[in-house]
Amino acid sequence: MKTYRIAAIPGDGIGTEVVDAGVEVLAAVAKRDGGFAVAVDRFDWGGAYYKKHGRMMPENGRDLIRRHDAILFGSAGHPDIPDHVTLWGLRLAICQPFDQYANVRPTRVLPGITSPLRHVNGGELDWVIVRENSEGEYAGVGGRVHQGSPLEAATDVAMFTRAGVERIMRFAFGLARSRPRKLLTVVTKSNAQRHAMVMWDEIAVQVAAEFPDVEWDKMLVDAMTMRMVIRPQTIDTVVATNLHADILSDLAAALAGSLGIAPTANLNPERAFPSMFEPIHGSAFDIMGKGIANPIGTFWSTVMMLEHLGEPAAAGRLMQAIEKVTADPRFHTPDLGGAARTTDVTVAVIDAVHGANV
Ligand code: ATP
Repeated sequence: MKTYRIAAIPGDGIGTEVVDAGVEVLAAVAKRDGGFAVAVDRFDWGGAYYKKHGRMMPENGRDLIRRHDAILFGSAGHPDIPDHVTLWGLRLAICQPFDQYANVRPTRVLPGITSPLRHVNGGELDWVIVRENSEGEYAGVGGRVHQGSPLEAATDVAMFTRAGVERIMRFAFGLARSRPRKLLTVVTKSNAQRHAMVMWDEIAVQVAAEFPDVEWDKMLVDAMTMRMVIRPQTIDTVVATNLHADILSDLAAALAGSLGIAPTANLNPERAFPSMFEPIHGSAFDIMGKGIANPIGTFWSTVMMLEHLGEPAAAGRLMQAIEKVTADPRFHTPDLGGAARTTDVTVAVIDAVHGANV
């Protein structure tokens, strides 16, 4: 029987609560399936580790997880440590060297969940946002000089390469093709940013020629925010730069009912390195330790992990279990207006996995 080795990195804040729940659910899914097993190694890296060791993960951290089949990540951050240190020290320190260049964020209004958009019900909001995850505005290019003096200057240079843009466009067109509507929106800002964004647009046109069966359009990022709110049913698959998609996907998560539900996959499509799966929310220190974090975003990320591992039946069974549980308001955590606790939702999903008739 195949055993998948999973590296669990819970991180900080509610990351530990939701990842522990995710590991329990994963074990239940494997048990119910019977065709594969999971072996989970837990790595206590993050803000608390930084306080002790002066770094977010050990120097050989990546070597310790390089040969795992997938990574389940929670969230890293600490109230006393600047966000750019925690982000670059752990999440980006894994994503970038492991070349997880395709960040995939499905958004759907799950059964039982109410969108803040009055006119929207389940079928009208079913998107996948593909975020370029290796360069662009988060390339890390830039500098700061004369710190503290009136002459101080700082730059963050958005860096786009033809190879980087081509591969994310190809991935997004391919993903759009695999979905029933075969519809892609390429988000841009080429009216104001006249170099890299113009190249981005040109490459979209070139790659589109390889996918004649995919219908596509181009949209400025500012107009896209309005379209997401006013005409959500006109959107299916979306591709955007690192920064644009970062912002759009938080909006998408909120429109789908709660930040606590939305999942993410950081994929290395060539499988040269493990891919990483995580809820899109952060450490949420305001609710940490209270046992009320919504674990659905982590469970849905686990579905994406199972799909990536090549276990579509188990993935489908878990998604069905999740939807059965969200449909029942007794299992809504406070972010969804309910009174359920993380453990209530976890137990309900595990029960549904065992009962799911797939
Ligand atoms: P970070 O800086 O790590 O991204 P943050 O606090 O800025 O953290 P989030 O952690 O994403 O951002 O939290 C934003 C808000 O959403 C908080 O009020 C938080 O309580 C709520 N929230 C986020 N995730 C969940 C969840 N899984 N369950 C319930 N509420 C959540």
